[in-house]
Amino acid sequence: MAKTIRKYLIAGNWKMNKTASEGAELVNEINLAVGKQSEVGVVVCPPFTALESCITALEDSNVQLGAQNMHPKQEGAYTGEVSAVMLRSLFCTYVILGHSERREYFKETDAFINEKVLAALESSLKPILCVGETLDQREAGETMSVVKTQLVDGLKGVTADAAENLVVAYEPVWAIGTGKTATPEMAQEVHKFIRDELGAILGNGAAAKVRILYGGSMKPENASELLDQPDIDGGLIGGASLKSKSFVELVEIARSK
Ligand code: PEP
Repeated sequence: MAKTIRKYLIAGNWKMNKTASEGAELVNEINLAVGKQSEVGVVVCPPFTALESCITALEDSNVQLGAQNMHPKQEGAYTGEVSAVMLRSLFCTYVILGHSERREYFKETDAFINEKVLAALESSLKPILCVGETLDQREAGETMSVVKTQLVDGLKGVTADAAENLVVAYEPVWAIGTGKTATPEMAQEVHKFIRDELGAILGNGAAAKVRILYGGSMKPENASELLDQPDIDGGLIGGASLKSKSFVELVEIARSK
């Protein structure tokens, strides 16, 4: 059901999919199936335009809402952006930060992502900080150094008291949306490394409280073995979060642990 002090978290990253009404429909189905249970944390992260319809459908539910990005400033002349305060006003609890698609297509740097992490925590939004290496970096033996830099630079200024509100997602870029999954052993090796690095940054007691999710083609067929690994505390799910059946199955697999 949980790993000592950490409760499993299954988070759906819908990316640029689902209109407001389609989102409400999907969330409704998820809510009917797993909205009452509280053994596993369940989060859906729709696009900004579907946040309001989704939260309306989630009244009295244990399913929580997250956003996929935010700007570090609270308000101002940042056309096209939204702030943590705005997300809080729509009852968001989580925000995905530093997803590899944002790093790649929108050139987000660790320093900018760090500003967002700090701003999210300040506004009581729980950051899901994404880290992970590309295929070239893995093949060059750079996985751990890449992940370490993303963690150290992304978490500058974060203190131990934030640990319970902090989530890290290890997402090997080569496994995202490709159908290729890291083997449970490969994933655990990096998750353990992340936990140790978090220990160096926040202290070991705090690091033990941070949930580290695996992301990259996670689906019902491969989730069980991944979730059995000692440092894998849940999943950040892309493709398989767009259908209630597969997403709910993932929650049920985590519940069965
Ligand atoms: C993601 O983009 O966060 C992700 C893990 O996608 P997928 O599950 O589709 O690989």
